[in-house]
Amino acid sequence: MMVLNNCSMDCKGCFYKRTDNNFNDFRGSRNLAEDMQSNGYRLETCYLLPTDIFDNKDNYSLFDNEDFAKTISQFAYLGIASTLEDGFDTRFFDIVYGLNDDIKIELQVNLLVNRLFDINYQMILKHNVNRIKNLYKDRVVINLAINTGFSLDPKEKDKIKSMLKYLSEDGIVELNFTFLYNKDISEEKKQKMMKDSIRIIQDFGDFYQKDESFVTKYNQRTFLRKPSFVFVGEPNTIYVNPIVPFDEYVYIKKDRYVVQTPTYDGFLNSYGKITEINTPVVDACESCENLTHCMGKFYFAISNDFDLGCFLNLKE
Ligand code: SF4
Repeated sequence: MMVLNNCSMDCKGCFYKRTDNNFNDFRGSRNLAEDMQSNGYRLETCYLLPTDIFDNKDNYSLFDNEDFAKTISQFAYLGIASTLEDGFDTRFFDIVYGLNDDIKIELQVNLLVNRLFDINYQMILKHNVNRIKNLYKDRVVINLAINTGFSLDPKEKDKIKSMLKYLSEDGIVELNFTFLYNKDISEEKKQKMMKDSIRIIQDFGDFYQKDESFVTKYNQRTFLRKPSFVFVGEPNTIYVNPIVPFDEYVYIKKDRYVVQTPTYDGFLNSYGKITEINTPVVDACESCENLTHCMGKFYFAISNDFDLGCFLNLKE
């Protein structure tokens, strides 16, 4: 949900707008949440995006809106992002835990790539992560996140992988496609950035599957079984997101991804429209062992929209 504004952090590769993220049809979001549940879906995480939640306390006033609060309280997790560079705010945790006794917080710690090798930065990060874990125990899950769309050098990648082992609970680094939300970047440039991003995804995906310290393995989420939506404002619009293996949801600002009504049927209608372009992308698909995997995630739709071909060919 693109609802947070004003951010003074300086994360590398951030192309998000930092103001005017004004989705506010919370009656619609609540309705979609309720209708998906009544059709058998369990709601996992609602992310509040795109800026650092603790950097602007005015963001907290969202919770004064009853429909917003009711939307959030139906989810198992509320997802937020922060660099944690300036610490965190216990008041925000109190507000969220006040919604009900079960809701947990998924905190994505946005890594400052420019400061990965700064010892002070590493200490601040570790200190704040440990404090949060000690305070909120099993009601918080902490992951690391970076923006995509630019190259990481081998040393940076190795550093992030080593940080994953002690700072991330499930060995995941979330990859933010912030460039997709920037209307000033040309479609051509987005295609190139998308390819670079998938190269990074492949690299971290391979690492995740190989490293035995991570218990949870690559999951089989599909577009239909585990749909994801993006809510953007001006005008209020809901998009449904296809999935790039290794499991990153992709926002594509095109009509066929728009959920016209905030209902389960609205979701099924866009599902039908996207199915039309979710067709194999290279001859090898027909006999590939990943065929159902790519089709189920609607990766073919992404590939066709961004002219990517097979993602396995996009290696660093
Ligand atoms: S892995 Fe590549 S070849 Fe195989 S189905 Fe997916 S896109 Fe096609």
